[in-house]
Formats: sequence, structure tokens, C-alpha cells
Amino acid sequence: MHCNCICGVISMTSHVWCHGPSCHTNHTVDRVRGSKGSKVLRTRKIQFNPEWRENMYNYFCSNGCYNDFANKYIQQIIAIAPRNEPLETPIEDPEKTKHTTSWGHTYYDTRIREREV
Ligand SMILES: [Zn+2]
Repeated sequence: MHCNCICGVISMTSHVWCHGPSCHTNHTVDRVRGSKGSKVLRTRKIQFNPEWRENMYNYFCSNGCYNDFANKYIQQIIAIAPRNEPLETPIEDPEKTKHTTSWGHTYYDTRIREREV
């Protein structure tokens, strides 16, 4: 397998270990490994699909493990692509519309449409 993303982390194997820093502390039966008297909870192994390189589930066993990683390394993650200025999406002037339901309830909604640039 050709590696162009995080070399050294993913080797030639088709499995990766979940990158969640606390994965091995979750009390689930599927994480139990080892022989009687010396059991451990082990980080989950994940089937790596090379066609889903940008998919977080190639690197994390769960949304919780992904969040744990993101929170632990948030400063480094932000440093990859710092946002020092806001982005903007051009829109048409918002249109506020009044609606009245068949039972007399009135509500408003505001339509927002992107402007062709
Ligand atoms: Zn995990």
C-alpha cells in the first residue's frame, strides 16, 4: 500500500490501531486480550480501507475516540490550518416570510439564498 498521508503511522498492513488516546480504557468485552491472570483492555484494531483515506473511521473506532484525539491535540490540529480571518459566503438579501397555519398559528421564516458570484 502506497502511503502519502501519515507515513510511519500506517505501515504496509491493512490494519491500524485506533488513534483514540483512551480507547484502551473503555470497558468493553471486545477489547479484552491476554491469557488468564494477565488480562488487559487493548486499543481496538481497525480494518484500514485505502479508498477511504479521508474517512475518520479508517483511524478511529468511534466518534468518541475521534473526539478524545481532537481534544487532546487541539492546539496542533488548529496549527495545521489556522483561521485568522472569517470566511464569507455571498447571499441575497434575506426574505422574511409570514406563514399562517390552517389552525391560525402564525410563524415567520427567513429564506437565505447564496448569491451567484
Ligand atoms: Zn477507539
